[in-house]
Amino acid sequence: MSHLMNTYNRQPVTFTHGEGAWLWDINGKRYLDALSGIAVNTLGHAHPKFTAALSAQIGKLIHVSNVYQIREQELIADKLCELAKMQEVFLCNSGCEANEAAIKLARMYGNQRGIDTPTIIVMEKAFHGRTLATLSATGNRKVQAGFEPLVKGFVRVPYDDLEAIRQVAAHTPNIVAVLVEPIQGEGGIRTPDISYLQGLRKICDEHEWLLMLDEVQCGLGRTGKWFAFQHAGILPDVMTLAKGLGSGVPIGACLAAGKAAGTFKPGNHGSTFGGNPLASTAALTTLNIMEQDKLLEHAATLGAWIKQQLQTRLGGEKGVVTIRGQGLILGIELDKPCAEIVGKALTNGLLINVTADNVIRLLPSLIFSQAEAQQLLDMLCPLITDFLAQE
Ligand SMILES: *Cc1c(COP(=O)(O)O)cnc(C)c1O
Repeated sequence: MSHLMNTYNRQPVTFTHGEGAWLWDINGKRYLDALSGIAVNTLGHAHPKFTAALSAQIGKLIHVSNVYQIREQELIADKLCELAKMQEVFLCNSGCEANEAAIKLARMYGNQRGIDTPTIIVMEKAFHGRTLATLSATGNRKVQAGFEPLVKGFVRVPYDDLEAIRQVAAHTPNIVAVLVEPIQGEGGIRTPDISYLQGLRKICDEHEWLLMLDEVQCGLGRTGKWFAFQHAGILPDVMTLAKGLGSGVPIGACLAAGKAAGTFKPGNHGSTFGGNPLASTAALTTLNIMEQDKLLEHAATLGAWIKQQLQTRLGGEKGVVTIRGQGLILGIELDKPCAEIVGKALTNGLLINVTADNVIRLLPSLIFSQAEAQQLLDMLCPLITDFLAQE
């Protein structure tokens, strides 16, 4: 028996090393990794340029403290602000911490405007993390059960429903922000209409609320643009990032712009590890390689091709409800729970995942080749067809 706390139902496999889109287990068996550690390994495994940059940084400096100026951290903040057209960045170590920073920022923003019980609108089926505040913001009872009392100051509305937001605006005082994923990841790769974010932007402007986008899973090139909000042609006031930012080295970020910028003053927030030289170098190198190797364009075209292939090969199956997503964040919703497909894929040497009970989730790294995408389809499609043919 392992001495690990029993927090995960783990697949029966242990990996020793990886290369590109592939992982090897302790028995030497090879797996095609179409999950990327849940949208984390942007550059796949053991990317040569990434490995070299990290090794060099480890040889120079891993950590100092945020009581000092950190050059690598200033560089990643500059880069993120340039790409997102935002103004300032707080660096932390994970997605939930980035969202904690956003929630604290929204409360501080409200308090600075004389709102003493600031309230944030959040969505059904949302996922924002597992700290107390972020699990309270999450719209999944399974994540919250047993951890009551929940953190107050959230009101929940259905996703992709502007009318519900307008209702809250009319009836709830003290709203300061809307926190929303541009694409719901854990909730089942739910992709709202492009007019949704545009409508949210408008409502937030009318009421001086902060539009806070959780791009922890959908951001950083996966949809074919740096950030998912860029497809809607809007700008958020706050955006959170993590998963793919450091290609596997833990780093999260909370960005602010416009009326949200300048909210925090020294002493308001902090993190011991946040944005240390190693993590900042991992993020900066990831973004530079994405740019040099044109990985956004690649994610857009390869993702569109995979989606179209899935549509052709599975779209006509009776049990396939929808095939959703954009770029390399894709979901195949079936009409019944399908967690068992994950184990069957594993046996066949393919790593995928199922979320929201009945949505097969594909999050390949941005370095996936067309040939690897073909292998993914050739392994996955028969598994789904066989699964649906059962009983
Ligand atoms: C994974 C995820 C988080 C939480 O990130 P952690 O690094 O696990 O804390 C928050 N928001 C979204 C949208 C996520 O997908």
